[in-house]
Amino acid sequence: MRSYTLLACAKINLYLEIVGDRADGYHELAMIMQSVDLCDRIHIEPSGTDSIRVTCNHPDVPCDSSNLAYRAAELMRSEFPEAFARYGGVNIYITKKIPVAAGLAGGSSNAAAVVVGINLLWNLGLTQGECEQLGAVLGSDVPFCIRGGTALATGRGEKLSPLPDLDQLYVVLAKYESVKISTAWAYQTYRATYEETYIRDPEHIEAYGQKVHSGPIVRAIASKDSAIITEELRNDFEKIVLPEYPQLVSLKQRFIEAGAIGTLMSGSGSTVFALTESHSEAERIKAYIEQELHHPDLKLWVAQFSPTGIKVSE
Ligand code: ATP
Repeated sequence: MRSYTLLACAKINLYLEIVGDRADGYHELAMIMQSVDLCDRIHIEPSGTDSIRVTCNHPDVPCDSSNLAYRAAELMRSEFPEAFARYGGVNIYITKKIPVAAGLAGGSSNAAAVVVGINLLWNLGLTQGECEQLGAVLGSDVPFCIRGGTALATGRGEKLSPLPDLDQLYVVLAKYESVKISTAWAYQTYRATYEETYIRDPEHIEAYGQKVHSGPIVRAIASKDSAIITEELRNDFEKIVLPEYPQLVSLKQRFIEAGAIGTLMSGSGSTVFALTESHSEAERIKAYIEQELHHPDLKLWVAQFSPTGIKVSE
């Protein structure tokens, strides 16, 4: 039987607005998600038994049932018992390149790859939309990780509206290994500080678009206007994370000094990224930051905006 190797792209947020509380306990969000070609490698093969086994090269990633890739395989097993009976379990080998707990949706992208990979391995014939629906059960970012490219994400982040690809842009990603920000802490702190700005019952207010400010960046993406895109970058989590972590503020300042056209924190952090319009400019900025800050704890990567979230090779 065949096996598949998939490349699972990281995502960055070009825009992240926290709109309000939802009845289901999640936050209502308005985000612009962008795939970038910093990718984990996921190899899936039949295990020859009825078990699911995950192996990962990164010490901070669990290989038990708390691994999102494992949970994706369990979901496929319970949704498609006949295919599971026919094809059996899977071995999943994860080679991490995406930094862990970094606001880059590493775990979600691995889960996305497993949904897509098992669809192929078990000949399920699911459409991309059907894979995205399954992905939404695993986590709010998983549908986007399956679809990839550039998208406006609303609801918990699972409702996607495609936007034109921004293939002209490159990104320098920077992460201090010691700065680990819990997403749960970020939401709790944001709520404690900004709850009075929340709109009430956002799920049921049709015109909540009036509160959401993503219109200008959406229009700038449609017209591929990099200058306006960079002016409209926004991440509400910066308001609570940056005061706690001054090194991230300095990093952003250094990126601008180095000539980046824009800079922002991704998700709840702690990755900070800088945008550029060429690969050579991104490499130059990366080298500048390495030289200026030469902190052993600071890791940098150059990546290009990607039109896909998952790339498959046999
Ligand atoms: P998001 O941007 O979706 O909030 P993140 O990039 O901040 O996610 P992840 O890299 O997905 O964070 O890791 C979050 C936690 O999930 C980690 O503490 C890690 O132990 C756990 N985890 C479970 N499965 C995976 C996986 N396949 N890859 C990475 N982390 C995983």
